[in-house]
Amino acid sequence: MSEEKSLNFLEEIIETDLKNGKYKQIITRFPPEPNGYLHMGHATSICLNFGLTKKYPGYTNLRFDDTNPVTEETEYVDSIKADIKWLGFEWKHELYASDYFDQLYQFAVTLIKKGLAYVDDSTSEEIATQKGTPTQAGVNSKYRDRSMEENISLFEAMRAGKYKDGEKVLRAKIDMAHTNMLMRDPIIYRIKHAHHHRTGDKWCIYPMYDFAHGQSDSIENITHSICTLEFVPHRELYDWLIEQLNIYPSHQYEFARRNMTYTVMSKRKLLQLVNEKHVSGWDDPRMPTISAMRRRGYTPESIREFCDRVGIAKRENVVDVGLLEFCVREHLNRIALRRMVVLDPVKVVLTNYNDEVEYITSEGNADDVNDSTRAIPFGKELYIEREDFMENPPKKYFRLFPGSMVRLKSAYIIQCNEVIKDAEGNIVELKCTYLPESKSGNDTSGIHVKGTLHWVSAAHAVKIEVRLYDRLFKVEDPSNEEGDFKEYINPDSLQVIPNAYAEPALKDAKFEDRYQFLRKGYFCLDKDSTTDKLIFNRTVTLKDAWAKEQKK
Ligand code: ATP
Ligand code: MG
Repeated sequence: MSEEKSLNFLEEIIETDLKNGKYKQIITRFPPEPNGYLHMGHATSICLNFGLTKKYPGYTNLRFDDTNPVTEETEYVDSIKADIKWLGFEWKHELYASDYFDQLYQFAVTLIKKGLAYVDDSTSEEIATQKGTPTQAGVNSKYRDRSMEENISLFEAMRAGKYKDGEKVLRAKIDMAHTNMLMRDPIIYRIKHAHHHRTGDKWCIYPMYDFAHGQSDSIENITHSICTLEFVPHRELYDWLIEQLNIYPSHQYEFARRNMTYTVMSKRKLLQLVNEKHVSGWDDPRMPTISAMRRRGYTPESIREFCDRVGIAKRENVVDVGLLEFCVREHLNRIALRRMVVLDPVKVVLTNYNDEVEYITSEGNADDVNDSTRAIPFGKELYIEREDFMENPPKKYFRLFPGSMVRLKSAYIIQCNEVIKDAEGNIVELKCTYLPESKSGNDTSGIHVKGTLHWVSAAHAVKIEVRLYDRLFKVEDPSNEEGDFKEYINPDSLQVIPNAYAEPALKDAKFEDRYQFLRKGYFCLDKDSTTDKLIFNRTVTLKDAWAKEQKK
């Protein structure tokens, strides 16, 4: 983790609250709506909420904000739990806003009894017109002065299913001239005859977000209720409801949403990408979802490190995805097993090598005890990367060309003597000789070469599929461009290499392991793999090829 950092504004507030004895412990919550998979923005909120109660005494609840029956599914609940655990956090209680429906109903009744809520028969258009504008006061609904008794019986009838969707709503009675538009008699309950993923058909009225959220916080004695900036104007209503109901005074604090370059970070937009098949699913490795990043090979450590480095802000900004990739690269460099894979092969035949097979000892990752030395078969016929050979190279080209010498990683120095081509002029084979006295670790040749190439033995190589990913969008901030964000999808974001050649050790690849394919990047096994066909995802390139490309 990074060195001593100054406190963020929430840590400052919390330290003051703890010092003053306002709280003995702090309680936070992560409140996802189960209507999609979690994305990198949620990861920020998770690291923040859970991180605070790791640092300070207290705990964090996982509360599913499932007050909208229409968009929610159990599949999402399960994925959200898996993602939080994978990120390395543990919640104290698993809770559902829907578990509070009875209590919330009672809260609504309390408001009615205090003369602070009324049933309104106006249509949604009428209610919208009544609201006025920021510069013009609203007007009272003609139903505003119903008696408490009438309101109680109408609200009970709403609950009993006597009315159709939209026929009536329950509104808080605050002030139609309030400077905060959200305080102009906001709707707190609506009728919705819909099946709920947990409560089934028990309810046909559902609380609005503003009526459920603060009350749920209060029921759980949440001390610091952290949300994103768009809820700033809601805070007044949040406080008003808690005060009128005289319940535990939770407090709301806001921070800026996390946005990242070259992607979109809204479940609604991500759902479009999935439904319209621009990607293969929520966990398509190009998606900014946590499940996609996991599948692609990102580690929880690197995502936490990223969130830590970026910190939290009070103003919206877009973070360079390059920083996330940097964190991923740093972690993988430490833990990845080193292997050799040739993505685009050209055959090398060592004319002076006998037909026997020799086993070359190769060092693994020096930082990782699990990546011990391994033996790699070496023989007369090898594959090297096509791009590591040039017939007419420019100056300072240190790889292979006619007459040049290079080292094959952990093995011998070879020299290229002849280029064999097919009828169309494509290079099909390179005839080379090797220097027997140049073996790595025991090199007495006295020859120094500048290029070292990765390679595999043709007779032993395992064919694997490799998937290379690029940015999903061509522009930094697709949501801020003209027209539909989907017009900016990068058509070349996935490149599939059906037949790459891997050293035989990769036959035993495991899902939990991370690999560095020498000179090619970091890779992991994809879930589409079968025993007959191993598929690898490129998690991230070795160097920041993208940033360099941009500077050109
Ligand atoms: P989306 O617009 O993608 O649907 P949301 O805010 O509606 O996001 P919720 O499931 O309601 O998603 O959010 C759960 C928690 O995650 C909330 O506290 C929310 O503030 C936080 N969150 C969501 N997106 C971001 C983001 N981009 N950056 C930081 N926090 C976020
Ligand atoms: Mg939402």
